[in-house]
Amino acid sequence: MPTITKVHAREVLDSRGNPTVEVDVETEEFLGRGVAPSGASTGIYEAVELRDGGKRYNGKGVLKAVENVNQLIASALVGMEVTEQKDIDERMIALDGTENKSKLGANATVATSMAVARCAAASEGVEVYDYFGGTELPRAMFNILNGGKHAGGKLSIQEFMILPNAKSFSERLQIACETYHILGKYLVKKYGPSAKNVGDEGGYAPQLTSTEEALDAIMHAIEESGYKSDLALDCAASSFYDEKTEKYNLDGKTTNNSELLDYYISLIKKYPITSIEDPFEENDFGSFADITKTLGSKIQIVGDDLLVTNVKRIKQAIEKKSCNALLLKLNQIGTVTESIAAADMCKKAGWKIVVSHRSGETEDSFIADFAVGINAGQIKTGAPARGERTAKYNQLLRIEEQLMG
Ligand code: PGA
Ligand code: ZN
Repeated sequence: MPTITKVHAREVLDSRGNPTVEVDVETEEFLGRGVAPSGASTGIYEAVELRDGGKRYNGKGVLKAVENVNQLIASALVGMEVTEQKDIDERMIALDGTENKSKLGANATVATSMAVARCAAASEGVEVYDYFGGTELPRAMFNILNGGKHAGGKLSIQEFMILPNAKSFSERLQIACETYHILGKYLVKKYGPSAKNVGDEGGYAPQLTSTEEALDAIMHAIEESGYKSDLALDCAASSFYDEKTEKYNLDGKTTNNSELLDYYISLIKKYPITSIEDPFEENDFGSFADITKTLGSKIQIVGDDLLVTNVKRIKQAIEKKSCNALLLKLNQIGTVTESIAAADMCKKAGWKIVVSHRSGETEDSFIADFAVGINAGQIKTGAPARGERTAKYNQLLRIEEQLMG
């Protein structure tokens, strides 16, 4: 049985140029590596990302989290069997001892947990997706236009995504790329050269002022592509919610909950939207339940900031019928084992699963394997451009080739 001989962390950079935690887990013969991603529109209930503060890297250094891996986590895990993912993750959870991983840092635990899975797969001589036991290529939501906190313009909605309709993953990727580039050209023609600049997740970030303007541009690109694609939105509504007035400020207009629901209904009538993520702010299980009741039989209502991949919050959402799909982000909860538990709970409730990247990503393509490995069915990992996003899509191409082989 392969036992862990070494656990070593270092500080590396993420796609926004901020430090993040990279962990190597070794046995006698193999090495597995994991790198923690990082959000911008983070939910308040997410597990804690430990940052050093102070002057270095403008406070964003992760040397404390790195030290936690090299000291505390390493001494707890060395000698354990690398294939015992559940025991290893439970050991880290116990060592942390807090509700939200604030002692060790979820950036320390998630990178370690991913590295353990990679090392275990290597020691068994299988690919990571195969180690988890899945075979289903996910349907991807490709982000082609960024707003909200990922862009810096006036658009309130954070992510505009397309879901091409085609049989295979590679065909869908090809359609997404073609549509993305057609959209880029169209935006330049209509709004000038700077409209082609991109946001954090690689989608274009033109200076548009309304959701409809963005959706119309995307519909134009879809039509010109000659292929059929559905649309998906991540509203990330907490980022345009005002706690004081308890109202939303969407594209410069103030709306209450029921007006916002009516607005979403009108969008769905006008555009082929099949999935809406975080339509309301992260505490509002009730309004989520209203939209799921109204639209849930037709489209997918995805909980991200509402659920934070946390079984306690998912349980509440299942009881209140607040969503019908989970956005699964490993670093929101901090271990592979807890992420699988979240997915299992949702599958039992008949929900759909979307494995997700973060806006701050790395070249680590773990989530591509993980999405296949747990038969998630769906993935969102940004635009079909920028290395940290294409790392995942390219890995899915390799997996597709193997599975078809
Ligand atoms: P984040 O955005 O990584 O900045 O949180 C992704 C999302 O909201 O889905
Ligand atoms: Zn989201």
